[in-house]
Amino acid sequence: MEQVTRAWFDEVVVPTYNPAPFIPVRGSGSRLWDQADREYIDLAGGIAVNALGHCHPALVATLIAQGQTLWHVSNWMTNEPALRLARKLVNATFADRAFFCNSGAEANEAAFKLARRYAHDKFGPGKDQIIAFYQGFHGRTFFTVTVGGQASYSDGFGPKPGQVLHLPYNDIAALREAISDRTCAVVMEPLQGEGGVLPVDPAFAKAVRELCDQHQALLILDEVQTGMGRTGSLFAYMDLGIEPDVLTTAKALGGGMPIGAMLTRDDMAQVFQPGVHGTTFGGNPLACAVAGTAFDLINDPSLLAGVVEREAWFREALAQINAQYQCFSQVRGKGLLIGAVLTEAWHGKAKLFVDAAAEAGLLILVAGGNVVRFAPALNLSREEFDTGMARFSEAVAKVVAG
Ligand SMILES: *Cc1c(COP(=O)(O)O)cnc(C)c1O
Repeated sequence: MEQVTRAWFDEVVVPTYNPAPFIPVRGSGSRLWDQADREYIDLAGGIAVNALGHCHPALVATLIAQGQTLWHVSNWMTNEPALRLARKLVNATFADRAFFCNSGAEANEAAFKLARRYAHDKFGPGKDQIIAFYQGFHGRTFFTVTVGGQASYSDGFGPKPGQVLHLPYNDIAALREAISDRTCAVVMEPLQGEGGVLPVDPAFAKAVRELCDQHQALLILDEVQTGMGRTGSLFAYMDLGIEPDVLTTAKALGGGMPIGAMLTRDDMAQVFQPGVHGTTFGGNPLACAVAGTAFDLINDPSLLAGVVEREAWFREALAQINAQYQCFSQVRGKGLLIGAVLTEAWHGKAKLFVDAAAEAGLLILVAGGNVVRFAPALNLSREEFDTGMARFSEAVAKVVAG
């Protein structure tokens, strides 16, 4: 067989990304190996996707069993894995019903369409404004980039969907001022991931819920990154003392299988009658079976308690590294979604740390130009962590030395 190389990417793949020079070929737990059999500790988790590490034996077993049984049927029929997964999600959350799709963007697209249609059917055509927040990220479809709070992702594609208003995150006064009976939904992440690992102020979350109730607007929580155990509870809203009307989840939901879901209450779900919305692959048995096994492993008190414990490992190790190199102004985030905010001297240079880490055999992430982000597997072992942080320390030393 012909040797595949990284150069192929520049020849035959649309350049939406600029991937690393090496190509991973296999993984196990929180370790990956590239074509040259070089080992990497993975503290990026495929961007908060591989919540149980690579090739978890229980997920592999489910994948094989379902793969030998039934992969796909049309939506003209339902299937057992999808029904089981919906039941699990509904039993564990505020929601009464689930809509399955294939990604975070699709889950949010469904949520935004649902909010618009619910307001349209219930209150008439004038209630169509969606309020969202600067630096928020909701996916790459045209509606979701428009609602996302970074114009650079939505500009240059012609006319955008209208009636989307952006406000500063965590600013109660600005929201109080802007929200009105024209607002059909307020959309937010309970901790902005891509926007810099910025947690919500619990008082802001409460105010958002109250103002939504006051103006009969739906509260949509985008938990695509924060959901499925990432912050130490099954979903981040569970620690905020509020409940949303709509919640979106994807990334870790399938433990690496592409799947997304929108969860909502019964009365809102009723506006998505047959013909109003849909997707060919959404709720396919293969993805839902694997997600069902991932759900059982993640929705486990001892795994969730372990996330809180591991957050402390990170905070301690990062404080030690910072005592030596003084390159972080703050470490923030929750559970295993952690951002090391770079000091002014290093602003715009987060990628340097990620590249140096990869050279040292460690995979980490940026969140914007000023934050180094960690989103590892929730079952990361102490040995994997220690090895990874030793490599991070080495990488930081190299960057700081220039
Ligand atoms: C990653 C992400 C999305 C988009 O998910 P895709 O699966 O890439 O479409 C949406 N919202 C948040 C908060 C995310 O982190």
